Amino acid sequence: MQDLTKVAVVTGASRGIGAVIARHFAAQDFAVLVNYKTSKDEADAVVADIIRTGGYAASFEADVTSDSEAKGLIDFAISEFGRVDVLVNNAGLAVGRPLIEIDTDHVNAQTALNIAGVLFASKHATLAFGDAGGAIINISSVQGVSPIPGGAVYCATKAAVNAITVSLAVELGPRKIRVNAVAPGLTMTDKMIAKIPEEAKQEIIKDTPLGRLGTPEDVAEVVGFLASDAARWITGQVIAASGGYQ
Ligand code: NAP
Repeated sequence: MQDLTKVAVVTGASRGIGAVIARHFAAQDFAVLVNYKTSKDEADAVVADIIRTGGYAASFEADVTSDSEAKGLIDFAISEFGRVDVLVNNAGLAVGRPLIEIDTDHVNAQTALNIAGVLFASKHATLAFGDAGGAIINISSVQGVSPIPGGAVYCATKAAVNAITVSLAVELGPRKIRVNAVAPGLTMTDKMIAKIPEEAKQEIIKDTPLGRLGTPEDVAEVVGFLASDAARWITGQVIAASGGYQ
């Protein structure tokens, strides 16, 4: 076990926004626990990158839709790094589907990860935070307040994330635990670059006041701020990181 100042647990950090959030925390001298569900090689690559640049990190497989695996994740952070200061609930599933094609699996998969996963990881982090409290940052989406056609389930889960953020902020404030959310607009992860047609990207740029697509770094820096002492008086907020896209 290393004697480190601060420890961040990032769920779903094997790729995409989560991987960049993990690297960002490591650059701020946090020890970082990189959670994944199936992508061990990718998670280990994120850890190797962090260690190569002088940081501390470990990876841990846990399906956060399981209460017991979420507990295992936080327990591992304590055994590996001695404490937990920050939890980023980043793992999320976004699947679009028109109403007439919505079935039980479609609803359950997204609610399990985007809602239950956030609650389970937050519960175990709350139990692990020390006397100084902690910070929970939930990754929501602008679609939580601006739903799109074909996105009824995903948008509803992100609206739920916003509600959970406010509810937990009020409940956990007396324990010095701050709970906030970052709501990204479309963010150009490797997966998104490949998935979104050029025409759709141009449409989004047109509707974005700051005139470009978002990057994972745009999101990670807001997460880092919310975890920092500079945000010590901020709780229960959902901050859009979308260049003004609504
Ligand atoms: P992504 O590339 O699909 O990555 C998802 C991550 O979650 C992966 O590391 C994946 O790991 C992990 N994961 C999946 N199921 C899991 C489970 N049951 N338990 C633990 N980890 C699990 O996602 P992303 O696009 O970076 O999005 C990250 C977050 O930002 C999500 O909450 C998403 O809703 C939100 N968001 C994204 C965008 C965007 O444009 N990218 C916009 C708004 C909001 P494995 O591969 O190991 O399963």
